[in-house]
Amino acid sequence: MKKTLLSLWLGLLCLPLFAQIQSPDAFLGYELGTHFSAHQKVVDYFKDVAAKSGNVKLQSYGKTYEGRELLFAIVSDPSNMERLEQIRTNNLAISNNDKNVKISNQPVIVWLSYNVHGNEANSTETAMKVLYTLAEAKDEKTKQWLKNTVVIIDPCLNPDGRERYVNYFNSVVGTVPNPDPAAREHFEPWPGGRTNHYHFDLNRDWAWQTQIESEQRLRQYHHWLPQIHVDFHEQGYNEPYYFAPAAEPIHQAVTPWQRDFQVIVGKNNAKYFDENGWQYFTKERFDLLYPSYGDTYPLYNGAIGMTYEQGGIRAGLAVVTADGDTLTLKDRISHHFTTSMSTLEVASGHAEKLVLEFRKFFEQSLTPSTTYKSYVIKSQNISRLRKLAELLTRNKISYAFGSEKTDKTLNGYSYETQKITQFKLERNDMVVNVAQKHGVLANILFEPQTLITDSNTYDITAWALPYAYGLNAYGLKESVSGGYPFIEEQKRTFDSVSKPYAWVLSWNGMEDAKVLMALQQKDIKVRMAEQSFTIGGISYKAGTLLIYRAENEKKISGFQSSLEKLLKDLNADFRVLSSGYVEKGKDFGSSTYRLLSMPKVVVLAGQEVSSQSIGEIWHFFEQELNYPISILNVSAVANLDIHKINTLIVADGYYADKLAEQLAPWVSAGGKLILLEDAIAAFVGKKPFQIKRKEEPKSNDAKSGNTQTYSSRDHDFSDAIPGAVYKVYLDQTHPLSYGIGKYYYTLKTDANIYEPLENGYNIGLLKPDSYIAGVAGAKVKSKISSGMLYASQSIGKGEVLYLSTGLIFRNFWEVGKQMLVNGVFLN
Ligand SMILES: [Zn+2]
Repeated sequence: MKKTLLSLWLGLLCLPLFAQIQSPDAFLGYELGTHFSAHQKVVDYFKDVAAKSGNVKLQSYGKTYEGRELLFAIVSDPSNMERLEQIRTNNLAISNNDKNVKISNQPVIVWLSYNVHGNEANSTETAMKVLYTLAEAKDEKTKQWLKNTVVIIDPCLNPDGRERYVNYFNSVVGTVPNPDPAAREHFEPWPGGRTNHYHFDLNRDWAWQTQIESEQRLRQYHHWLPQIHVDFHEQGYNEPYYFAPAAEPIHQAVTPWQRDFQVIVGKNNAKYFDENGWQYFTKERFDLLYPSYGDTYPLYNGAIGMTYEQGGIRAGLAVVTADGDTLTLKDRISHHFTTSMSTLEVASGHAEKLVLEFRKFFEQSLTPSTTYKSYVIKSQNISRLRKLAELLTRNKISYAFGSEKTDKTLNGYSYETQKITQFKLERNDMVVNVAQKHGVLANILFEPQTLITDSNTYDITAWALPYAYGLNAYGLKESVSGGYPFIEEQKRTFDSVSKPYAWVLSWNGMEDAKVLMALQQKDIKVRMAEQSFTIGGISYKAGTLLIYRAENEKKISGFQSSLEKLLKDLNADFRVLSSGYVEKGKDFGSSTYRLLSMPKVVVLAGQEVSSQSIGEIWHFFEQELNYPISILNVSAVANLDIHKINTLIVADGYYADKLAEQLAPWVSAGGKLILLEDAIAAFVGKKPFQIKRKEEPKSNDAKSGNTQTYSSRDHDFSDAIPGAVYKVYLDQTHPLSYGIGKYYYTLKTDANIYEPLENGYNIGLLKPDSYIAGVAGAKVKSKISSGMLYASQSIGKGEVLYLSTGLIFRNFWEVGKQMLVNGVFLN
């Protein structure tokens, strides 16, 4: 008793304003690096430190798809923490070119992002050590840094993926970790922990923000706009450590200061690595081009963006590397910890200059030196234009519509013809003027061609949004501004027809697909016009949907009033017609008004399947369309029941040859089979499937031997096509093309091309002028200069769609969604 009282008294005496912060080891109950920590434990640790420390504030910023908490800690000197909100608003004011904000009193903001790839699992462990070290600020150096530095620590950008990896590893590791590289614990099962719930690579999603983790984080990112952002990764465990400066190609928008500062940071990191004799490399492999990475996106938004890569993927708690050394999780943590601290040291040492250059970046954004000073995006498809507007808003890019001077004539570079063309600026055309705060990013997202200094890139080399959204656009050398903040809504007139014959609905975008799904789910019969028609002086395009009164009201009581209520609730674009007699085209009794059946969709999953490809489809149906799909393992195709499943999507992947044989009877019985990308390979040469690869032209220099030098072995790109835009000529009369137009711009990521079908519809073809933008090596260019990319073939009562390119690449390739929806719903 006496003892308890005494310790209580002593405890009270020693109690500072805040309770003692626990080290990660003490809090977790094991030494950091001896175990992979569960996400909830990491969250709890961050909360515990924030509760006990005077210089840490916690910001929870949402949940993952699987419901895990997303959060970051903000750490700085107590005097900064007291005026944190003022620091943040001042920082934004600087980016907004507010000259009243004094730079001298403004700390630099450094954002450290850990573990965007779930199976690069060291990073989150390191984040706890960094938080503890800064929160304690025991040594004089750290204290000094925090006086002019605000540090944001996000311990895990991808908790769902990391947990997938950590759960797997913890479930298979023995009482002692096995460093043998062949041991089971070093091999994750499909789909692996790199990606998030929907198998999306979150380090490719910064600009598009299709995933809720990115969308919620980017809202915070723009709320703070740091001067430095570091994205902590791991690479294969046989690699050492990579840090900035980055490799070529580096986008020309990266400023000299941003390049120079990467060198300053790199040299400081190198100093510590040299002291310890640790291996590292810089200026290799990791380039700065594609705008949706955790380094480029910050760079294009005024920060010094950098990627750090520790060797560690599949290393578990310990692994023997190719050099014969044993790499442990503790080693990996100490390397990431070292670069974290070294970066803070450099940031603090250059705080004022960093803020000054940050101001300069946004000042210069107002007077761009880009080729095009503004972009006009035509309003030929309002649905996709609206989607584009949403994307720009998420990225804080300003835009407007039309001009107060109606039908203004302008000259611009046409994305379609690739020539300077005269055009009229119409009321709903979108205008993006590059002279704006986020003009650097705006220009990178719109520029028709990215200037590439080196083809040795890690990712796609073309992404111009007009192509991705399937919209005509122009790049203008003059500075043009739009006249109106919003799209002018078309007035919907609901004609009153006492006894309707039919209702007609448009088919232009995802909202129309949602209307169709809602109607079909209520058992309403919907037809599709295969040809255009004119009635009441109004012409309707092929693809227009029709609902006939008579054939529906037999089955559904109170049909007319419930339908009209439903259409109004859905905000559907519809008209009411009193007769089925048309002025031009076919009357409504014609068989060209085809009854659509409701698709019961299945997608295949498993190790044969590209997780990215199935993830894109899964996410699109579940999160965008809200349409139920079933996911079956590939082995289940042997027992597909045509009465239960009528539409099967086979995503990109490497399938066994027997797949064609297994599916042929189901297709003949009336199934619709949609084959994407390399899924087609399993069907080539297998009856009754007609698909044939296009043979490569015989090379003349085949006999001349290898003319390449040894040192240029990494620089032969004649076979490369890391992601280039091609113009596909469409058969506009085929339902697959409805709502798209004359051309479809595809992101071509491989050299596959096929012979046009002899018996079937060749819906999408490449022609010699199809190449538009991005890197495509000479051999690839010649191989795919003509041939078939999209086709449909009837087999028995069923149909096969061969769609040989990724349609909805990373779910930002918006026009591909229209093609996918056409393929699935217009049957
Ligand atoms: Zn990574």
